[in-house]
Amino acid sequence: MRQTKQRQVILDTLHQHTDHPGADVIYAEVRKVLPRISLGTVYRNLELLSEAGIILKLSGKDGQKRFDPVVSQHPHFRCVKCGAIEDLPFDIDSVVSSGTMNQWAGDRKVEGITLEYTGLCAKCNGSGSV
Ligand SMILES: [Zn+2]
Ligand SMILES: [Zn+2]
Repeated sequence: MRQTKQRQVILDTLHQHTDHPGADVIYAEVRKVLPRISLGTVYRNLELLSEAGIILKLSGKDGQKRFDPVVSQHPHFRCVKCGAIEDLPFDIDSVVSSGTMNQWAGDRKVEGITLEYTGLCAKCNGSGSV
């Protein structure tokens, strides 16, 4: 993949996030560095980066695309109230290689496990008022 300046800025911006931002959030920040970039360009680059396996694409609340700079397998916690997506410190690769969760797979070859927790994030869980 040809590395353009735009793409590098987009990637750098995403790497500053652990909250799996959508294209609009990335766009707002990239524009501070590259004022003439368009949302379409940001979006297209994010799509290309995810197709190339450099970043991960997730679907967020209401089908909105969210992006993750962490491509190693890791579980997400998804807040059912505010739609926040957070990373959990849980090493899926070690679980896959240890075989603990592979016992149900039978003769199938397990190459990965997608694990997602759902519930209320700390913020939503803590605030009793809406
Ligand atoms: Zn929440
Ligand atoms: Zn993540």
